[in-house]
Amino acid sequence: MAALPQHQDPTLLEADRVLEREENAHASRPYLGMSGLGEDCERKLWYGFRWVQRVTFSAETHKKFIDGHRTEDLLMQRIRRVPGIEIHTVDPETGKQFEVTDFGGHLKGHLDGAAYRLLQAPKIWHVAEVKASEKMADLNKAVVVLGEKTALRQWNFTYYVQAVLYMNYTGMERHWLVCGTPGGREWTGVRTEADPAEAIRQKAKAHRVIFSQHPLERISDNPEFYKCRWCSFRGVCHDGTLPESNCRTCLHVTPTEAGEWHCARWGKVLTVEEQRAGCQAHLYIPSLVPGEQIDASPEGEWVEYRMRDGSTWRDGAQ
Ligand code: SF4
Ligand code: SF4
Repeated sequence: MAALPQHQDPTLLEADRVLEREENAHASRPYLGMSGLGEDCERKLWYGFRWVQRVTFSAETHKKFIDGHRTEDLLMQRIRRVPGIEIHTVDPETGKQFEVTDFGGHLKGHLDGAAYRLLQAPKIWHVAEVKASEKMADLNKAVVVLGEKTALRQWNFTYYVQAVLYMNYTGMERHWLVCGTPGGREWTGVRTEADPAEAIRQKAKAHRVIFSQHPLERISDNPEFYKCRWCSFRGVCHDGTLPESNCRTCLHVTPTEAGEWHCARWGKVLTVEEQRAGCQAHLYIPSLVPGEQIDASPEGEWVEYRMRDGSTWRDGAQ
């Protein structure tokens, strides 16, 4: 049977376009997030940290994100109603979410909370994390089949890395992840132990991402590899798209140990706003240009490339 044609309501289509426009206008994060560090393509992490391309999503995906945040708030409210349990979602010193940082602030994470007096382990503090996921049933299965200690790692390595780092940076030795289906009708919880060895591995990875002056290794050189096919950076990585022009793609900039971005061209530390704007003296990091460098003039401040299609392109002053 032929598929029924989709009914399209013009008002709702416009509402979707507005949602996309507004949500996609949010600027890229200025730091490397612990919540995404478990990603196994280091080049992808580097591209994100260097703002090579603004990541945008469809209205459908944004609706999922919004749904997820609402569900997470709802789950937290329900947990709070358990008599005797202690949950802190705000750092009393700052009045904001608990924040953990490293490398001068280039690496950051934000905890959903800290929990005490869980019924299953009342004497120990836990990092508390709440997620909404359509794969909640798989987590439940992993707990039953593999046991609670390894379930999170097997179910979602990115969430596991986030858990391990939050425990490491806060000094709490247990993590409690509560996962609910979107809408919150079903849920499950999993406790995870600290893993100092994995934390060290992930910190070393963060160091590579933050301080490398060039794109890190690709997970695959094949653009048809399943992860590359859906990657937001595929254009820059495989297809020869020139990255965006801002300070983070400029060869004059260096991230410092103090968490700053220093421009050698102007001899100063750049604010985040300055980094987003860039300047007329911008020159691409050569390994970001899809071509081969054939000439350069330090005095003239330009670099010339033979591009993949054989044309010549001059970056910088004309
Ligand atoms: S396209 Fe593939 S190799 Fe390139 S950044 Fe994305 S996942 Fe990594
Ligand atoms: S030269 Fe301009 S674009 Fe490059 S890092 Fe300095 S301020 Fe940014």
